[in-house]
Amino acid sequence: MLETLQRLTQEANAAQDLDDLLQIIVGGVQSVLSVEVASIYLSDFEQEQLVMMITRGMELRIPGAVRLNMGEGLVGLIAQRAEPVNLAEAKNHKQFVRVAELNEEAYHSFLGVPIIQQRKVLGVLVVQRKRVCRFDDEQVAFLVTLAGQLAGSIAHAEALMSVSESRSLNRPAHERYLLGVPGSQGIGIGTALVLYSPMRLQSIPDRQCKNINEEIDRLKQAVTIVQKEMHSLKDRMRQLLPKEDYALFDAYLLMLNSDTLINGAIREIRDGNWAEGAVRRVVLKQIRRFEEMGDSYLRERAEDMREIGRRLLMTLQEKADPLDQVTDGAVILGEEISAAQLAQLSPIKLGGIVSVRGSQSSHAAILARAMGIPAVMGVADLELSRADGCKIIADGYQGRIYVEPSSVVQQEYDRLLDEQLELNQELHALRDLDAETVDGARVSLYVNTGLLADIGPSVESGAEGIGLYRTEVPFMARDHFPGEEEQTRIYRHVLESFHPRPVTLRTLDIGGDKSLPYFPIHEENPFLGWRGIRITLDHPEIFLTQIRAAMRANSGLGNLRVMLPMITELDEVQAALNLIDQAFEELDEEDDDITWPDIGVMIEVPSAVYQVEQIVTRVDFLSIGTNDLTQYMLAVDRNNPRVAKLYDSLHPSVLQAIMQVVNAGRLYNRPVSICGEMAGDPAAVVLLLGMGIDSLSMSTTQLPQVKWVIRSFTRRHAKELLTRALSMENARSIRDELNQALIEAGLGRLIRVGN
Ligand code: PEP
Ligand code: MG
Repeated sequence: MLETLQRLTQEANAAQDLDDLLQIIVGGVQSVLSVEVASIYLSDFEQEQLVMMITRGMELRIPGAVRLNMGEGLVGLIAQRAEPVNLAEAKNHKQFVRVAELNEEAYHSFLGVPIIQQRKVLGVLVVQRKRVCRFDDEQVAFLVTLAGQLAGSIAHAEALMSVSESRSLNRPAHERYLLGVPGSQGIGIGTALVLYSPMRLQSIPDRQCKNINEEIDRLKQAVTIVQKEMHSLKDRMRQLLPKEDYALFDAYLLMLNSDTLINGAIREIRDGNWAEGAVRRVVLKQIRRFEEMGDSYLRERAEDMREIGRRLLMTLQEKADPLDQVTDGAVILGEEISAAQLAQLSPIKLGGIVSVRGSQSSHAAILARAMGIPAVMGVADLELSRADGCKIIADGYQGRIYVEPSSVVQQEYDRLLDEQLELNQELHALRDLDAETVDGARVSLYVNTGLLADIGPSVESGAEGIGLYRTEVPFMARDHFPGEEEQTRIYRHVLESFHPRPVTLRTLDIGGDKSLPYFPIHEENPFLGWRGIRITLDHPEIFLTQIRAAMRANSGLGNLRVMLPMITELDEVQAALNLIDQAFEELDEEDDDITWPDIGVMIEVPSAVYQVEQIVTRVDFLSIGTNDLTQYMLAVDRNNPRVAKLYDSLHPSVLQAIMQVVNAGRLYNRPVSICGEMAGDPAAVVLLLGMGIDSLSMSTTQLPQVKWVIRSFTRRHAKELLTRALSMENARSIRDELNQALIEAGLGRLIRVGN
């Protein structure tokens, strides 16, 4: 069963379009379950109907001719209840309706399962037999599993349908988009450029080749190089392995020399594809062929084929870096766009970012916000290999993308872009005004940054300082640990640019989803693993170099603050303070002008919330990292788009935790700031205002909106809203209440932009 499922899903994933996909599914189901009829209905959400798209075994003359209302007939019942129906005799069921266009008389047993994606019923998969007998458990399980596995492919294929093809579904053009989660506000329109990984065959895009003959030569050279590699590997293994084992290399060589591979790829190139795309196509086709074979020995050859494909691609890509191809205005697409890639690309003005994995709180999304680039994360159904070179609209407000949008969609987005520009211009007028409530309460507004390119705009934004400088960002943009001198230069530039305003340098916070190419960490559970202060305390040489550089950069300026990330227990605070003291003593002996900076702790792990009173007495300030605090309190991976809906910092438990930290700060007279993304969320700002937060730190692009919110409320009203919010049961109702308050305060335009 498992193998059949795998084979069928693999075939389906390689389908050219929706039609092809539906054919593969019904064909596969019919033969695996030995049923006379297999059909698929898809939902027409506009008309609230189910449309029969395909059937095998019965005649369906015009696709789209059979339509059932939601709840109508057995198919409508399955869609409405979102559960399977398994009947020995379909017509005995009270919901059964006879469809004039179909001749169902001859069929008795009926099994239908819903096709569901993200709680939405996309359609219904039905099988029918002449026999009068219920389907057995294994058959039901097979169909349910298959429908579950293929829902994503169906959604993807539907989204890419052309306007004429979609007519049968009556689906208007604006409905055909791929859904992800909002990563960074804004609308990015441009040409898609896929950042592929040569290690992953599936990620290689099709791309128009420039010169067919040169491309064929590139392919042949790559084949020759890989052949040589294989020969020398074989020779080496000859000494070590018995004959039957090193015969594996003969199999590799045979495949590599085969006509199917070489001539197949050449044919693809002659059709206009570049060598990499041609290799992907033929190799994947070959892999599928092997996987379908009955003989287990031959099936295992699929892995050898994959290895050959990988080697060919690595050779073809040896001197190329996908990042080199990125130019201004490109919308970059990738399996998992990382913060490190964005840091490397920071001098380029990207049009937009679309990532198959990741979520709103992934560091790539945070960096995109800092850079003011629209981003959509977690677009799980995007097929990268087909999107390269297409026109893309990335809607970072709603978290959706359009591939080759229609002119109607394009016009709509041009209008939204104008609106966005207008709002930004209006908000610019607040630049030199204080962030002060109507009844005179001041909140300091700081920026989060880490990119040198962002310093100019941050200073310009009217920010009162830097509340979070992510020092790992300059580390990520390099191919080695920056030394003390280099770090001193970077920090000096930041401190000078903002002087005399405070600059909060956070000590290196790598691990989780932030890795350094030259310091790889491989862990099962990286967010619960070696992260932040845990790494730097284990490597005091890294910590001390950074602290020394920061203190030297501060010489003669005095606006440095140092902040410690991922503190989980008091010992870590003490150990870090001891190291800072050691660096201070060393430098003090070398240079008179060293001053002791304010030291703060990030509260971003629940254990730190419960010990906040002990922590706060040891340091000068606290800053709440709501991104991680939310992740750890709600047990929701901040990177996982599947659970992105559960990730909300307005969850009552998170609010209680923040209140506890703010109250501890007040009790011990230490300032408390928020430096997670919550500080830039207009709805959340109202509550934080009500709590009496001292300062908020966010990306430059969010700052004007937050200032507008603060200047539109009284603290008294914010406190009332906080009291009401704390009596509510879930984040959704709290957000609704706050959105209503924003509308009443005349800030309704921020809701679409905020959340
Ligand atoms: C946080 O966790 O809220 C935070 C500001 O740190 P980061 O997002 O870099 O983990
Ligand atoms: Mg954090």
